[in-house]
Amino acid sequence: MKRLLILAAAATALLANAQVYPGSKPISFVVPFAAGGPTDRVARDLAEAMRKTLPGGNFVVENTAGAGGTIAATKVAKANPDGHTLLLWHIGMAATPGLYRKLQYKPLEDFEYLGMINDVPMTVIGKPQLPANTYRDFENYIRANSGALNIAHAGLGSASHLCGLMWQSAINAKDAMTTIPFGGTAPAMTALIGGQVDVMCDQTTNTVAQIESGRVKGFAVTTAGRLSSHKFLKDYPSLQEMGLKGFNLTIWHGLYAPKGTPAPVLKQLNDAMKLALKDPDFIKKQEGLGAIIVTDKRMEPAGHKAFVAAEIAKLQPLIEAAGKFAD
Ligand code: ASP
Repeated sequence: MKRLLILAAAATALLANAQVYPGSKPISFVVPFAAGGPTDRVARDLAEAMRKTLPGGNFVVENTAGAGGTIAATKVAKANPDGHTLLLWHIGMAATPGLYRKLQYKPLEDFEYLGMINDVPMTVIGKPQLPANTYRDFENYIRANSGALNIAHAGLGSASHLCGLMWQSAINAKDAMTTIPFGGTAPAMTALIGGQVDVMCDQTTNTVAQIESGRVKGFAVTTAGRLSSHKFLKDYPSLQEMGLKGFNLTIWHGLYAPKGTPAPVLKQLNDAMKLALKDPDFIKKQEGLGAIIVTDKRMEPAGHKAFVAAEIAKLQPLIEAAGKFAD
């Protein structure tokens, strides 16, 4: 009888353990950039949506800025694989192997891929005091003021850095501007609005409100074509339309856990993420900010991982051609 009771108690404990995730311990979305920026916006909207379907899920956003996202990525790669520390990052996952000579994590080996969230176009923007009002005038202004202007970005390996590199190389103005790194494009945006920096390339999840209110000037979008379904970005030309042949840059976001996170936990997280991607509130908020929510197989771990592997291969030669590395 006593043995039976012990067995029953052990079985109950096992069951309780299996059901315990997430429990009361918070689930951190580690965001590699400053609070209030474009990736932080995605993380906060996603956390709000996932909270609805992962019972007890106490999501918190942890901003770990620095070194273009690589500090946060290293931190999550080395974190306890218990489903409580996740990385919410973007194209930097695929760009940093080309931009940094040394990394303390392997993007395709040190993480469990949970899935992709969205595609976010970028906008080329300038401080409100710039005399130019159209993209053409803006480009001419940059050439005429070569050496006197600066361009903000969120650190080597950030999307704004990558976009700035590719754009300056496409317009043959690689050294026309001095780069000014920030811990995210939220503080960079404050400097742009204040006129302390001149130019930036940033995700629409950070620029839509600022362009709409006239706090910064929008000049072009980085997608191959116009954003024809957005309420006002549809009026902005794409860089390709402005003659930058083949220019097409979209910043995607994905969710990652440290390698070794148990499969049932990964499944719970992926299920909750996929439900969030279908949540009308989440879709409305993100689409209003220019984002395009993922609906294809990239929302699955394997689909997203295959996509990131292809992105690494695609970005490497582009970064080499644009020509700037960090150590
Ligand atoms: N996504 C970054 C941020 O949230 C900026 C960047 O990658 O350029 O600040």
